[in-house]
Amino acid sequence: MTAPLLQLDNIEVIYDKVILAVRNISLKVAPGSIVALLGANGAGKSTTLKAISGLANAERGEVVDGRIYYLNRDITSATPDSLVELGLVQVLEGRHCFAHLSVEENLLTGGYVRHRSHARLNESLEKIYHYFPRLKLLRRNQAGYTSGGEQQMVAIGRALMAEPKLVLLDEPSMGLAPLVVEEIFEIVHTLNRQQGVSFLLAEQNASIALKYADVGYIIESGRVAAEGTTADLKNRSDLQALYLGLE
Ligand code: ATP
Repeated sequence: MTAPLLQLDNIEVIYDKVILAVRNISLKVAPGSIVALLGANGAGKSTTLKAISGLANAERGEVVDGRIYYLNRDITSATPDSLVELGLVQVLEGRHCFAHLSVEENLLTGGYVRHRSHARLNESLEKIYHYFPRLKLLRRNQAGYTSGGEQQMVAIGRALMAEPKLVLLDEPSMGLAPLVVEEIFEIVHTLNRQQGVSFLLAEQNASIALKYADVGYIIESGRVAAEGTTADLKNRSDLQALYLGLE
């Protein structure tokens, strides 16, 4: 069996020294796979992603127990910028585009975090325009005036400018119409299959996540309540109404 790209062993995350947001989460992301974290509001999905990327620190969150491994290195205390250098990037919930910059300028900001030549940046940009043709059409437009779905594409495209191996994608469907959500997941799926980029995504929308992910973890109150291939999870009648919102 190939070694996992990412592995979490029994991690526990506390905010402000008192709020226990993640109690005990273990999970694996195999190279080249799409893994979904499913679960209700406040279950601990975003905190898990931020603990991996090192961004939890910025909110006074701390991994107080357990270990996180990426590319066989212990990254439990790694900083976000050092992880970007290793090809691990996060797309935050809510997209966070620079509203006054153009779509292309937003994309370019994602490339500067890694020290790349001008030619390499242009190559990355062209690749992103290949997968997101809509962004090419909009490249001179101010990002703040694009639609929610387009801003999600900008946020994902910006992360891809760092040439990641693993993208942590927080709630990509949030606030978007079903057709737009489908379009975004289709692109994620294509990037995964054609470019080998792995994704660990947090989603409340279980049906879309189960459709596109290979493996799923259902998170409840900071713990893993169930896990398995998405094909298996879809058939588990005990999980349908309780966790997955599927009937
Ligand atoms: P959502 O989809 O609503 O973001 P989630 O499953 O991603 O839900 P988290 O955002 O990780 O859940 O929240 C887990 C718990 O940690 C919740 O009780 C939440 O109130 C708390 N929490 C999240 N962020 C912070 C923070 N910055 N400071 C303090 N508590 C936090």
